Amino acid sequence: MPLLGVLGWPVAHSRSPAIQNAALAALGLADWHYQRLPVPPPLFDETVRALGDAGFAGANVTIPHKEAALALADEASETARRIGAANTLRFGEGGVITAENTDAPGLLAALGIDVAGIRAQVLGAGGSARAAVWALLDAGAAEVLVWNRTSERAARLAGELGAKAVDSPQPADLLVNCTSVGLGLERSSAGGCGLNQLGLGGDQIGEYSHVADLVYRSRSTPLLAAAASRGARTTDGLEILVAQGALSLELWTGRAAPLEVMRRAAREQA
Ligand code: NAP
Repeated sequence: MPLLGVLGWPVAHSRSPAIQNAALAALGLADWHYQRLPVPPPLFDETVRALGDAGFAGANVTIPHKEAALALADEASETARRIGAANTLRFGEGGVITAENTDAPGLLAALGIDVAGIRAQVLGAGGSARAAVWALLDAGAAEVLVWNRTSERAARLAGELGAKAVDSPQPADLLVNCTSVGLGLERSSAGGCGLNQLGLGGDQIGEYSHVADLVYRSRSTPLLAAAASRGARTTDGLEILVAQGALSLELWTGRAAPLEVMRRAAREQA
């Protein structure tokens, strides 16, 4: 029975088991199973090195292990190396561990547009912002601007990847929220939906024709609700989660991912 899983700490909230097990069943891979792998940072390396012998074909990697996953891998894709983080591992013959990053191509697939030549504003400077900035620039975006609450982090990320740090969010074709703001954010009296935490005034949302939010939760996030009400195209965090999970599944199984099944499983959990 080939095993798959998601390594994280904590990982109890992850929707990946529901999404991936639904996909495996739809592909007729009844003997495969995908499970949560809660592993604290001090045990990460020794646990991951033991997974191949324990019957694991691969694993997803989430907070806080994405950089450690790249560091321990024997081989890594150029995408993972350039981003400096891996979210997908494969355990091959002879214990060889291969690292990949599907966050970047997953974001582009979920956006569903050609980003060549566009101007994009990314909010955040953590791990997912790094993958987003790299993905957009690699796919030919003309300019990627980075805003972050802690401006030094935005400047560092932008300098490393060839983007431009900004003191406040600027008008652009595409806005991508890569901060965790939005999970518990509700409508507040000040700043319309609390969007001020993202450096955005309520009216500013109208400056973007396409808004993507990596945050996923059962209802629309305040950012996406505001964008949709102003007629913008929106891409939500569940679509992005499904897109990166689909690419991971294809790497492990060599089969085309059943996207509709995965979307349904992601939203049923919501
Ligand atoms: P991370 O590395 O911890 O970065 C968090 C980012 O959020 C930082 O830029 C941080 O700014 C900012 N932030 C946190 N609280 C804030 C606040 N109150 N006001 C303004 N900015 C705030 O996290 P990550 O891995 O990039 O993940 C970010 C979000 O994306 C999470 O919600 C995660 O669940 C989601 N995500 C979704 C997917 C998907 O497939 N849909 C994939 C990856 C991540 P500072 O630097 O100032 O602290």
